[in-house]
Amino acid sequence: MRIVLLGAPGSGKGTQAKLLVEKYKIPQISTGDLLRAEVAGGSELGKRAKAAMDAGRLVSDEVVLGMIQSRLAKPDAKGGFILDGFPRNIPQAQALDAMLARLGQPLQLALLVDVEKDVLMKRLTGRRNCSKADCGAIYNIYFSPSKAGNKCEKCGATLSHRSDDNAETVGKRLQVYESQTAPLVAYYKAQGKLRTVKGVGPMGAIFKTMCDIIETQIRPLAAVMGRIDAVAAARERAAAKAKAVAKATAKAVAKAKDKQTAKTLAAKAKPAPAKKPVKAAKKPAKVIKKAAKPKTKAKKAK
Ligand code: AMP
Repeated sequence: MRIVLLGAPGSGKGTQAKLLVEKYKIPQISTGDLLRAEVAGGSELGKRAKAAMDAGRLVSDEVVLGMIQSRLAKPDAKGGFILDGFPRNIPQAQALDAMLARLGQPLQLALLVDVEKDVLMKRLTGRRNCSKADCGAIYNIYFSPSKAGNKCEKCGATLSHRSDDNAETVGKRLQVYESQTAPLVAYYKAQGKLRTVKGVGPMGAIFKTMCDIIETQIRPLAAVMGRIDAVAAARERAAAKAKAVAKATAKAVAKAKDKQTAKTLAAKAKPAPAKKPVKAAKKPAKVIKKAAKPKTKAKKAK
């Protein structure tokens, strides 16, 4: 299944993506995570991206598209993926459509996690992440603080505050979302691929709604596509078999010493004439009428 998760920063789409990964066993591809890894690794790409990220601006399309292209080419993305934080603008969405069309794997669903702006602000400025990469627990000082204060409840590591989660940068990120990313809602709506889920309330309930949408939108489509593929494969196998038989016969004819054997083999190789279609049986209307008569007479006799 090939899904794009849409939603403003802080809508919870990253958290939901992790749950979807567990359930459907497909990778989450987050351009934000990929970029943060580049920054942490001190790569040239990371250095170029950091200034834009710290200012709450978008990193250039060229950098992000290059990263996405190589990520989608990895074997674990062959069976599907959940894109989180990508695309972020119309040119990125168009580039994604072109990439997936080349792979013959079009996007199946764009799922929007919808949350009001004031909730987003608190969620982002209050967010605290466990600094241990393989733990990844997320807390919020307003909604779900760690019982261990500034330490992770699960592993004891120190909690960190993302450098772009301060009020000023968050304001800028939300503004960028409104002007550049929100138009994707209309883009995917026009493609008939958009579905919306309210991103407030218990996490489990939001997740269930998302799974219900995925099941009803993608599963039936996958089943139909599977049947179409099976019919096409059977047709290809039959054609290959007929070709192999014709080739073998032609070889045998060429090898045949006497003319009569060649004639017999060639005749055998000719396709059998098509059978005439069986005529549909006539309606038994008259027979029914005749059968009905004696009954009426018998009644009169009574
Ligand atoms: P996120 O974790 O998705 O909120 O992303 C954090 C930051 O990374 C954003 O504020 C952008 O600066 C940058 N970023 C992430 N994804 C993209 C993208 N698809 N295009 C451009 N910049 C991105």
